[in-house]
Amino acid sequence: MKIHEYQARQILTAHGIPVPAAEVVRTPEAAAEAFKTLGAPMCVVKAQVYAGGRGKAGFVKLVHSADEARAAAKFMLTHRMMSYQTGPEGVPVSVLLVAPGVEIEKEYYLGITLDRTRHTATLIASAEGGVEIEEVAKKSPEKVIKEPMHPLLGLSPFQARAVAFKLGFSGKFVGEAAKIMINLAKAFIETDASLAEINPLVLTKDGKIQAIDAKFNFDDNALYRHADLAAMADESQERPLDVRARKANLNYIALDGNIGCLVNGAGLAMATMDIVKLYGAEPANFLDVGGSVTAEGAVEAFRIILSDPKVKGILVNIFGGIAKCDLIAEALVAAGKEVGFKIPVVVRLEGTNVEQARKILAAAHSQMPTLATATDLTDAAKKVCAAVA
Ligand code: GDP
Ligand code: MN
Repeated sequence: MKIHEYQARQILTAHGIPVPAAEVVRTPEAAAEAFKTLGAPMCVVKAQVYAGGRGKAGFVKLVHSADEARAAAKFMLTHRMMSYQTGPEGVPVSVLLVAPGVEIEKEYYLGITLDRTRHTATLIASAEGGVEIEEVAKKSPEKVIKEPMHPLLGLSPFQARAVAFKLGFSGKFVGEAAKIMINLAKAFIETDASLAEINPLVLTKDGKIQAIDAKFNFDDNALYRHADLAAMADESQERPLDVRARKANLNYIALDGNIGCLVNGAGLAMATMDIVKLYGAEPANFLDVGGSVTAEGAVEAFRIILSDPKVKGILVNIFGGIAKCDLIAEALVAAGKEVGFKIPVVVRLEGTNVEQARKILAAAHSQMPTLATATDLTDAAKKVCAAVA
């Protein structure tokens, strides 16, 4: 789960990390008022969206008067933010942050995420902050410092100080930067985060270290123990189909192709996508309805797949175990009656109650002529790929 920058800043503040004061606003007028209250000669107006790259996209703007703040806010609230992280559809903007603008001496990168190779959370730091860390890692990997954290002890003070020195801090700044790293590590562990990032951490011209951008992602599997974090979710930032899928307990990821896939089990879903590609087509989605899917869940899965206009054919690949084949067949027929299958639907069922399922599908065939059954997965993939070719 993601959260907005202003919420991430609250987490940093609660963990003793210095963050400039800021106001959250929702109208151009409120942005102008915030400029007056913050009283700085310069403020920064920032769109609050679940994506980075706002600076380059014009959605982080330095302003020098209440009028400029109003105009910047008006622009941001009436345009979708599009950056290298969002794709061409962009994301809507309805909340802004107004903060006093700081005079930056130098920008640093600090992040903590899971290093899957080392099997532990790892601090990532760079003196090349502000820009995309992926770019720094690609062009000059020697400028990215990685410090693995002990799974139980977290980030030790000696590690944090070593990183602070490597970043080029000296004097009192070594201790200050190290404290920020240790506190960020604590916040990462306490919130069950999968990413905790400050980019940039800045050294200001008047000699302060501050976080001026913050990002947290949380492990969805741990959200049940963080009601306060779960409550921060902003559904307007997610694609509508993703929200629906989550509510129906479906693992759904939209892709670019035109074959909708409805599968139970993540492994089988991957295999299904592979075989679709093998026979020359592209999957429109990954969809694992899960082992214990209900009839209503399966119908919702069809609705979600069918509401994607790119989908020109559907491949249903179910291995009936906990979810029995006849339940899936009935859901398929129910979905067909509700939405009407105007596109080819090829069904491969195997496992518990497969005979009953075949009878249900055979009986429905006269009403649903685009519904076809397959003898096995290869047959199913060939049929659905041929149908959209
Ligand atoms: P992002 O592009 O979405 O990561 O948004 P950021 O909050 O990181 O802002 C992008 C860039 O804008 C930063 O790297 C800074 O260079 C600049 N910026 C943001 N806030 C301020 C500020 O208060 N003062 C100055 N001078 N620059 C800022
Ligand atoms: Mn940033």
